[in-house]
Amino acid sequence: MKVGIIGLGLIGGSLGLGLRSRGHYILGISRHQETCTLACDKGIADEASVDFSLIQDAEVVFICTPIGAILPTVEKLQPILSPNTILTDVGSVKSAVVNAVTPLWSNFIGGHPMAGTAEQGITAAKPDLFPGTRYVLTPTEHTPSQAQKTVTELVQSLETEVIICPPEAHDQAVAWISHLPVFVSSSLIAASLQETDPEVAQLAQKLASSGFRDTSRVGGGNPELGVMMAKYNKEAVLRSLQVYQEQLETIKQVIEAENWDVLEMMLGQTKGARSRYNMTR
Ligand code: NAP
Repeated sequence: MKVGIIGLGLIGGSLGLGLRSRGHYILGISRHQETCTLACDKGIADEASVDFSLIQDAEVVFICTPIGAILPTVEKLQPILSPNTILTDVGSVKSAVVNAVTPLWSNFIGGHPMAGTAEQGITAAKPDLFPGTRYVLTPTEHTPSQAQKTVTELVQSLETEVIICPPEAHDQAVAWISHLPVFVSSSLIAASLQETDPEVAQLAQKLASSGFRDTSRVGGGNPELGVMMAKYNKEAVLRSLQVYQEQLETIKQVIEAENWDVLEMMLGQTKGARSRYNMTR
């Protein structure tokens, strides 16, 4: 199948490597000629160009740009592609993308690979990024069944488990397991930095080990990603933060009341419930 990929970064490049090694013909689009050359050299694409007309005959096009560039990309594609071309995206937020793109391109299905690394750009692309991971597709009542079937088969060929859900459910779910943790973790670092005694502050930094490493990791990540989560998934992020704030308040009250049995019960419940989260990687 002729597959177009726009945005040859971590996700776009890894899709190119994975799909090309499974026999698909990959047409890559980048904003930079050097990236196009590198994409062909690294086996990410069979052909690559800065000119969108390269993908006019693609049967499926994956838009792998940052979220804010997805809609402008669809607008640029409109005069180039045939209406039969199936469009999909890989953005980490779905309602905002699906609601904006569907009126412009009916042959569209939103997607979100639940795979990634902390690195970015074409040099971060890996052939084995997807096998063993989940790939969310978010069809709506407007999504053509053939688009869903074709994209499902393509991403399943990368050895992913396809999860189908509505865009809104996806966004609330990722707010809980991906976006809220960033703001909780960032707040943990910010709160620790508010220690007013310089000796204690220095000691805390010296003593920090595995617990702080685990809980501060996502708060110490790329700020642009955090802003993207809050900007494009604002409602779900705010709802999660509100519930989290209430939960913290409850814990605070239990400790103030020295209600140790209740505290133990609460911690026991979360210890038991953690295994329900199916963390693959
Ligand atoms: P990335 O490595 O930075 O790749 C994005 C690529 O998009 C860039 O390499 C660039 O490619 C192109 N691009 C950047 N800004 C652009 C703009 N303003 N207009 C058009 N193209 C632009 O980022 P990524 O991690 O692959 O993320 C791409 C998408 O995947 C995002 O929508 C993100 O939400 C989603 N996603 C990311 C992860 C993750 O863990 N990183 C996981 C799942 C989904 P060229 O230089 O070749 O033009």
